[in-house]
Amino acid sequence: MNYLSTRGGGFGKGRTPLVPFLDILLEGLAADGGLALPEAYPSIDRDTLDAWRYLTYPDLAFEVVRLFATDIPAVDLRGLVLKTYTADAFGSPEIVPVTSLGGGVRMLGLSNGPTLAFKDIAMQLLGNLFEYALAKTGRRLNVVGATSGDTGSAAEYALRGKQGVAVFMLSPAGRMSPFQTAQMFSLQEPNIHNLAIDGVFDQCQDIVKAISNDASFKRAHAIGTVNSINWARIVAQVVYYFWGYFKSTSTNDERVSFTVPSGNFGNIFAGHVAREMGLPIDRLVCATNENDVLDEFFRTGVYRVRSSTETVATSTPSMDISKASNFERLVFDLVDRDPARLSAIWTTLERDGRFELADRAWAARFGFASGKCSHAERIATIRSTYESSGVVVDPHTAVAIKVAREHVQDGVPMLVLETALPAKFNETIREALGIDAPAPPRLEDLLDRPQRATSLPPTLAAVRQYLVEHAS
Ligand SMILES: *Cc1c(COP(=O)(O)O)cnc(C)c1O
Repeated sequence: MNYLSTRGGGFGKGRTPLVPFLDILLEGLAADGGLALPEAYPSIDRDTLDAWRYLTYPDLAFEVVRLFATDIPAVDLRGLVLKTYTADAFGSPEIVPVTSLGGGVRMLGLSNGPTLAFKDIAMQLLGNLFEYALAKTGRRLNVVGATSGDTGSAAEYALRGKQGVAVFMLSPAGRMSPFQTAQMFSLQEPNIHNLAIDGVFDQCQDIVKAISNDASFKRAHAIGTVNSINWARIVAQVVYYFWGYFKSTSTNDERVSFTVPSGNFGNIFAGHVAREMGLPIDRLVCATNENDVLDEFFRTGVYRVRSSTETVATSTPSMDISKASNFERLVFDLVDRDPARLSAIWTTLERDGRFELADRAWAARFGFASGKCSHAERIATIRSTYESSGVVVDPHTAVAIKVAREHVQDGVPMLVLETALPAKFNETIREALGIDAPAPPRLEDLLDRPQRATSLPPTLAAVRQYLVEHAS
């Protein structure tokens, strides 16, 4: 399995057009600023689907990931996957439990890892893949990332104390929940650097993108990323679409739909990959909060990025985006994988801040639908879900439940992806239910732990300077 760049320019110094998995594992972007994608999605035939139905989660994960990571010897990959998906790390041997919420809606429980958010599923595997790849090549790596909350903590928990790796995580100062802040800033491992940037998430993300685009700086300081454009994360997320499908159907003749609370479009893009591989997915419903750039695109064909002042801070901070960093991958598929067309569209986007895909035939062909959800609707949904099923859901998951209920079809199970546990967003739970979210015992004292972070202005120069001084 080889990877290409969405903009056609290839990877690394030599701009190699097609590279294997390990060559893109530690990188976010191609040399031309494009994103890595497989040259073709693997196709799963009916016999394979039947054989996969009764596998355990770790075994299924191995079968899926090996199709994308063909340059890692199977015995090594199996070891890495089995060491990642344990009952100890994810709270139960199922790893991803499925819970019925009534009315044809089920919830895929993705948030039982160490940071209580779905990003752990991908990031815990990534930590082990990184350690493996670095040990193999004797390299060091300085991971630079931007987070509005969950990506950062998941990356830090995956890489804390690992040999040969340091983490530099930019976050918008004062914009994460107290719980998310405590989760990240309480880590004391010297290889973890929390950089609190005086700005919004997109400024953090732009700084990381600028660093990623500076090939010589990256090389000089062994810099890589784990933000949501990392391809290995998408691959790890593909697994639970298969898992959710098997757990919600009794034969492989059935179809299911998924509703995904979306921000940077990584989670739902993994669903798109699963569908392209042949998983019988009816619809992929993209659910957004008030920052509705994606919902607008799926409704109108117009993609218009928002300015930072137009981007509002909501009770679902992990979805407060002005543009979606993985979206380029989908558009590449929508334009029939034509890198010239994709590059032209991105040139338009950079010039005008918008583009339009007027011919909307793709919407049906790829099964996409969308919807959005306000704060008041989240509160109402948290309440109604609790009243009807006794389950307390976090506000991000509530966005998806609200939108899912609008898209349920008879005879097609609708799976909502749970992206965080409610304990991470207790203020909103109190507002909705008047009670505290159930607190996971291992994190009871989290808010009282000592915190450490470095404050920096929202400039590329300040972050570069810090990296030069602290990179391993
Ligand atoms: C990251 C995140 C999202 C958005 O996922 P994307 O892959 O960026 O679309 C939604 N909810 C929570 C809780 C998250 O952490």
